[in-house]
Amino acid sequence: MAKRSRKTFYEGAMETFNRAADLVLLNARVRLEIEEPDFEHIFYVTIETRDRLAPLEPKAQREFKDLPPSGVSAAGALEPLADGKFVLHRRALLDADINMRRGVINIPGKGLFRVERGGPRKFKAYRVQHNQVRGPYKGGIRFHRDCSLDLFKALAADMTWKTAIAEVPFGGAKGGVRIDPLLFSREEIEAISLRYVYKLKNLMGPFVDIPAPDVGTNGEIMAFMMRQYTDGEREHHALRGVVTGKDVRIGGSEGRLKATGQGIVYCIEEWARDRGVSLRGARVLVQGFGNVGGATAEILAALGARVVAVNDAFGTVHAEQGLDVEALLAHCHATPGNLKRTVAGFAGGTAISKADFWALDADILVPAALGEEIDAEVAEQLKVKLVAEGANGPTTPDGDEVLQRRGIDVIPDVICNAGGVTVSYYEWLQNQKLEKWTEAEVNQRLERTIKSNYAIIRDVARNTPRRTTLHNSRPYCVGQETDVRTAAVCLALRRIEAHYLLEGFSQ
Ligand code: NAD
Repeated sequence: MAKRSRKTFYEGAMETFNRAADLVLLNARVRLEIEEPDFEHIFYVTIETRDRLAPLEPKAQREFKDLPPSGVSAAGALEPLADGKFVLHRRALLDADINMRRGVINIPGKGLFRVERGGPRKFKAYRVQHNQVRGPYKGGIRFHRDCSLDLFKALAADMTWKTAIAEVPFGGAKGGVRIDPLLFSREEIEAISLRYVYKLKNLMGPFVDIPAPDVGTNGEIMAFMMRQYTDGEREHHALRGVVTGKDVRIGGSEGRLKATGQGIVYCIEEWARDRGVSLRGARVLVQGFGNVGGATAEILAALGARVVAVNDAFGTVHAEQGLDVEALLAHCHATPGNLKRTVAGFAGGTAISKADFWALDADILVPAALGEEIDAEVAEQLKVKLVAEGANGPTTPDGDEVLQRRGIDVIPDVICNAGGVTVSYYEWLQNQKLEKWTEAEVNQRLERTIKSNYAIIRDVARNTPRRTTLHNSRPYCVGQETDVRTAAVCLALRRIEAHYLLEGFSQ
């Protein structure tokens, strides 16, 4: 059998766990309890897809060039998708004047299309519930092409560490659906979301497992999921905490949308304070310009930093003097034709390659896209002083070694992007109490939580046990220095272990 050369996501993620468990002399039974997830759910969701109009292949264009145009005037009848196709909604037929020849139609201003029949489709779905000793399972739902059990196991374990580090009373989970959401209509995404919750309903709840948005999902999808869970339930208003990251008008929290970015910036501020440098004029690279990357760039720019380049799944833009972040956000998220929500094509910057992006001269890199982007090769090219991990697992174990050797600081994901789950906890609290907090209240609490736990991790890494008005690192230092990533997991493991040891094990 061929030798497997690459570690799985989970094996990579658990290397840090094993190092930290050795350092904190983790209780042997606790180690067994948390080194594998509690539950790994794999299931399937099916939906009926709508008919689509697919651009006619070039070789058939001549044959249909004299096809009379079809008039489709109902608003929203044709929904554009990122692959150039249109979803044909049934309402399109209400007042349409259709001329079809052998399944081809001519839409004025859009071109010739072949009608593709919709029908039932099946998607693989996952939910990994890693640990719940500190509270209900908690973690995002990802809609993405590259999903696997291995990936969700790693991300769910990360959530267990993260909720412990942020000191929120939750455990860890992660899940999602293997799908490219850019290729489906809003109604199809709604159907997938509803079906996902239909299948998972007995396994979730405000005190059981609480999903949130992640890559490819958003507040609208959380609303669909909440509706599906609470539909027909007595006291349904008291069940709003079943998902977080909702729109503020239906029980979401002020500040949640930007919370992950805000938390990243609080960490970067502490790093800068520690190093005695200012963020004003600091040069920043951002990878991923969705919820996390966009908010981080916006907040850093407001503090006077210069976002000199942004890379996403479809391109990279660069401006030596700094990009106009507000204009870039509008380009991505408020331009109707920009279906991929990409920075590509932004007029306020120059297009560069991804390889050139990594090699740019800058102070701070914020990876806020997918995992495993910073491998050893990329880490060798970086010219930054800090990698602030907005994404989950953006650095491979090999990449980590190179960053350490080259003296590039890292703020690990489990503290750096913990702002999202922290404000998710505030949202859940507000839902329990039917309260509404202001953004200022939310951010004040978030800042205190992130900065005090950041300070504990820094002390654990340097082995400098201290008690200040903001934090107390004495119970967590392990008697020797360690890297920051391991220090963060040491903090998590001590907090998790306390629950097992003080509460005991249910038999
Ligand atoms: P999103 O879907 O809103 O945005 C993802 C961004 O990454 C997009 O700009 C996309 O173009 C880009 N991208 C995708 N593949 C890429 C590639 N191969 N190369 C470069 N760019 C690529 O997702 P998000 O919610 O912003 O999440 C981003 C990361 O942050 C993920 O790793 C997620 O797990 C993590 N995270 C999110 C939250 C949250 O609250 N949303 C909280 C904690 C961590």
